[in-house]
Amino acid sequence: MKKVASPLCSECRMVEDVYHIMLECVRNEDIRSQIVRKIEDFMNTGTCNRILAYPLSEEAKEVYKMVGIALSPRNVIYN
Ligand SMILES: [Zn+2]
Repeated sequence: MKKVASPLCSECRMVEDVYHIMLECVRNEDIRSQIVRKIEDFMNTGTCNRILAYPLSEEAKEVYKMVGIALSPRNVIYN
């Protein structure tokens, strides 16, 4: 990850932490719905813990893909 000028999401104006990126941010609605279709109980805490416990699983790779897409516009530092 790179240093950014603000901790706030440029879309939602909320703190852009992992929770926000994965579960709240409007920028990620499309890919989140794709993941939810692939993993029916994605929003279940047990499923999130299982993904974190098995970082090389296909489900975890989908999460990494989403985070990568979510962070890609943030690679630019705004002044
Ligand atoms: Zn957001």
